[in-house]
Amino acid sequence: MRLSRYFLPVLKENPAEAQIVSHRYMLRAGMIKQQAAGIYSWLPLGYRVLKRIEEIVHQEQIRAGHIPLLMPTLQSADLWRESGRYDAYGPEMLRFKDRHDREMLFGPTNEEMITDIFRAHVSSYKDLPLTLYHIQWKFRDEMRPRFGVMRGREFLMKDGYNFDVDRDAAIHAYNRHMVSYLRTYERMGLTAIPMRADSGPIGGEDTHEFLVLASTGESEVFYDDRVTSLRLGQRDIDYDNRAQVAEVCKEFTTLYARTDETHDQAVFDQIPEAHRKSARGIEVGQIFYFGTKYSDAMGASVVTADGSKVPVEMGSHGIGVSRLLGAIIEASHDEKGIIWPEGVTPFPVGIVNLKRGDSAADAACEGLYKALAAKGLEALYDDRDERAGAKFATMDLIGLPWRITVGPRGLANGVVELTSRRTGESEEMSPEAAVDRVAQIY
Ligand code: ATP
Ligand code: MG
Ligand code: MG
Ligand code: MG
Repeated sequence: MRLSRYFLPVLKENPAEAQIVSHRYMLRAGMIKQQAAGIYSWLPLGYRVLKRIEEIVHQEQIRAGHIPLLMPTLQSADLWRESGRYDAYGPEMLRFKDRHDREMLFGPTNEEMITDIFRAHVSSYKDLPLTLYHIQWKFRDEMRPRFGVMRGREFLMKDGYNFDVDRDAAIHAYNRHMVSYLRTYERMGLTAIPMRADSGPIGGEDTHEFLVLASTGESEVFYDDRVTSLRLGQRDIDYDNRAQVAEVCKEFTTLYARTDETHDQAVFDQIPEAHRKSARGIEVGQIFYFGTKYSDAMGASVVTADGSKVPVEMGSHGIGVSRLLGAIIEASHDEKGIIWPEGVTPFPVGIVNLKRGDSAADAACEGLYKALAAKGLEALYDDRDERAGAKFATMDLIGLPWRITVGPRGLANGVVELTSRRTGESEEMSPEAAVDRVAQIY
C-alpha cells in the first residue's frame, strides 16, 4: 500500500474524550471513528487489524475441530422467552418491533439461537460431539460505554457453543476451548491468564475468564505471579486427546488466579508473599460449562447409544474480538505510539523514503516494495512529499514492528536501514538483505 493513496487520517493532537492510551492511539492513528456512544466505524487501518485478529481466532478454532457458521445479529424475542432470558436480561438488551409489531432484539449473545438450530437438525448421539461458532457483531446497551472499543455497545465477538452427549465430553469441550484460547492470545503477542470467575447471567457450573494484566483494566484480579510465565509455545496439541488437553488446562489453572468475584483471601494468603499479586486486568474472553440449562428449557435432546433420550450437554465460549485491539495496545505501546506484535500488525513493514524525487531513493523504494510483495508481504510505503520527521512520527504512531528507511546517503554506500519499532535499534544492510530479514521474521 502506498501511503499517498491510502486513507490514514492521523490526528496530531490528543483527542480530549480518550481517557486511556489504547483509545487515544486508536483515534490518533486513524483506526476508528466514533459514530454514537460505544458505536464505531472501523477505518482502513483499524479494519486491517480487526481482520488479522479474526483470522487468528478462526484458525485456532478450526484447529481445535470447531465449525464456523454465521447467525444473524437480529433475533426474535420468542426464542428468548423460551429460555426465560427475555425478561431476565435487563436493559443491556436492545429491544424493538418490526413493522408487523413483532418483538425483536439485537443479539447480545446467541445461546438460544444456536440451541434452536441444534434442536431442528440433531437428534442422535452419533452426530456428537459438535461445536459451532461464529464471529458476529453483538449489541449490549452498556450503562457506561467507554475506553473506545474496549467497552463498546456494538462490538465484535467470537462465540462458540459445544453440544455433547454427557458431562465428561462437555468438560473435554471446555478444556479444548481453554487450550485453543491460550494459543489464540499467544499468537497475538498477549499473556492472557485464565482465572476462575463467576458465571453471571449466562449461568453455569464452571467458568474461566481470560485476563490481560493492564493498569487500565476494569477487573480486579488476584494471582500467583508465577502464572504469568507459563507459555503454550509451539507444543503439539492433539485436540482429540482428552488426557493431554486436560493436562494442559491443569498446568495453566493450578496456580492461584482469580477475579474479585471468586477471590478467597484465606487461600491467597498461603501463597509465598513474593509471588502474591493483585492487579487490574482486561477480560478478553470467557468460557462456560453450563450443562443442560438451555437444552432443558428449549427441548434440545439426543437419543443415546442405549436408546434413552437425554438433554444435550452444553457450554458457551466467547472472545472479545474488537476489545482485543484495545487490550493489545494497552499491553504494547510507548510514548510515541502503538507497537504491534508481528502476529496482528496491519502491515508487516513500513518503507520510509527520506527523499522523494531523488531517482535513486525512489527506485530503491519501488524495488523494496516489489521484492517484499513477491514474498507475500504487503509493505506500507510512505511515498508522500513530507519531512522525514513527520514520516517517522507517523510510522511510530501506527506501530508497524519494522521500518526500512531509504535515503540517498545510505544508497551511495549500497545500504538501507532496518529498524525495530520495539527496541528502536537500527541496522544498515543491503536492500536485498533487508527484504530477506523481514521475510524471515514473518
Ligand atoms: P464485561 O465483564 O467486560 O462486561 P462480559 O463478561 O459481560 O464482559 P461475556 O458475556 O463474557 O462479556 O462476553 C465475551 C467477551 O466479549 C468478553 O470476555 C469481552 O472480551 C467481550 N465483551 C463483552 N462486553 C463487551 C463490550 N461491551 N465491548 C467490547 N467487548 C465486550
Ligand atoms: Mg458485561
Ligand atoms: Mg465479565
Ligand atoms: Mg464475561
